[in-house]
Amino acid sequence: MVRDHFYIGGAWVRSSAPGRIDVHEAGTGEVLAQVADASEEDVELAAQAAAAAQSEWAATPPAERGRFLSALAEGIAGRSEELARSISREVGTPIRHSRAIQLGNPIEIIAGTVAALGEFIFQEQIGNVTAIREPAGVVAAITPWNYPLQQVVAKVAPALAAGCTVVLKASEVAPLTAFGLAEVAHAAGLPAGVLNVITGSGAGAGEGLATHPLSDMISFTGSTRAGRRVSELAADRVIPVTLELGGKSASVVLSDADLDKAVKFGVYNAFLNAGQTCTALTRLLVPQADQARAEEVAVATAQRLSLGDPLDEATRLGPLASRAQLDRVRGYIRLGVAQGARLVAGGADPPAGLERGYFVAATIFADVSPEMTIAQEEIFGPVLSIIPYPDEAAALEIANGTPYGLAAAVWSNDQDRAISFARRLRAGTVEVNGGAFNLAAPFGGVKWSGHGREFGRYGLEEFLVAKSLQL
Ligand code: NAD
Repeated sequence: MVRDHFYIGGAWVRSSAPGRIDVHEAGTGEVLAQVADASEEDVELAAQAAAAAQSEWAATPPAERGRFLSALAEGIAGRSEELARSISREVGTPIRHSRAIQLGNPIEIIAGTVAALGEFIFQEQIGNVTAIREPAGVVAAITPWNYPLQQVVAKVAPALAAGCTVVLKASEVAPLTAFGLAEVAHAAGLPAGVLNVITGSGAGAGEGLATHPLSDMISFTGSTRAGRRVSELAADRVIPVTLELGGKSASVVLSDADLDKAVKFGVYNAFLNAGQTCTALTRLLVPQADQARAEEVAVATAQRLSLGDPLDEATRLGPLASRAQLDRVRGYIRLGVAQGARLVAGGADPPAGLERGYFVAATIFADVSPEMTIAQEEIFGPVLSIIPYPDEAAALEIANGTPYGLAAAVWSNDQDRAISFARRLRAGTVEVNGGAFNLAAPFGGVKWSGHGREFGRYGLEEFLVAKSLQL
């Protein structure tokens, strides 16, 4: 399959780029598709189309914009099996998780956005001032590969709801569902130019879009490394940028918690999408006295996650998304061993019978000390570090002791104690005793995990600018 046409100005326009990027099937390593690597001219056309559509879309009543969004959700739902399979192939997510999360979440995010839009107050009176909220303009949206449709929708839905138009540069590693979204938008009759979709490399198309004079703001999700670069580029034209970046999230099991339950929960969380989840709870902090039991439960839980073909209904742990990711994760596992962490499950060697594709077994380290590289850096693979701690004060210090601050979890049989601990954690989201992820509540990070919030009303507000009319 070759996808060398981009969705620009409401039509499929052949890319002028000579270059093609191979998209690999995670489970086999084979080339699944090729996409165009957008040229400067492609970026120009897309930005022009978004700018041309901006004022009319901004003038479209919010209720009508909401109807288009609901039509997008219906369109996605109508193609959900096909899109779920596509994501399982390019990202490696087990098919059951693809259906529930990779497809379920975007639909829920749109619903949350439509609900927020319905209640949103675009205008208020402050003394002699009529304060109004206007769309930020043309949004340059840049997204990663791990939840390729969800991350796109988390930008496109609130941007469109706010009255912005969008140029999306989807991840070059997992671009296929972005084309699907464009097809759905077209079928829903979204006006030409409101959503434009291109693919290409970060250094080429990504930087071209971030620096384009018609981009009014940048909404970026990806690594801290690239986020920092995008921020520098945005600073040049002083345009706003929101950054959803990496994480090194801790699950803290307090001394009075139900240890077995907390550990099981932590293991499922850490290995979801083979650990390629920005909020993955990759550090499991347990009281020193409980480490042996935690290790036993963690290993037993990990062994129940059947590793294999992501399209097999029985699979719970799929491959990583790319060769680069495989090499990176194996490198971290070797480093963990070299730095003295004790390997209690998995390892860097290819799992037996799964030498093709990008597989890594569920890997658990115990006796990890907080300063080790595997306890500080984002690995983005199925690698869990069990870190023993002496007392609650130390647990807090360790949990907050990385450059990241995206997510965290805390477990205690005393809900007030858990909430008090959660308040002291420096993270954008904290699960208290396994509290569920809510796709209408604010989501984002602090420190190296970025700034800005997605989902629901908070997500919508990122794409609006306040203006005061002094009367
Ligand atoms: P990445 O930073 O390599 O790429 C993300 C996107 O940015 C891609 O579209 C890429 O082409 C583009 N890009 C790369 N360099 C760029 C540059 N110089 N200028 C403009 N664009 C550029 O990240 P990835 O490997 O695709 O995704 C994994 C990372 O994303 C992890 O660190 C993960 O934690 C993070 N992530 C964060 C969240 C969140 O919401 N906080 C969600 C998912 C993933």
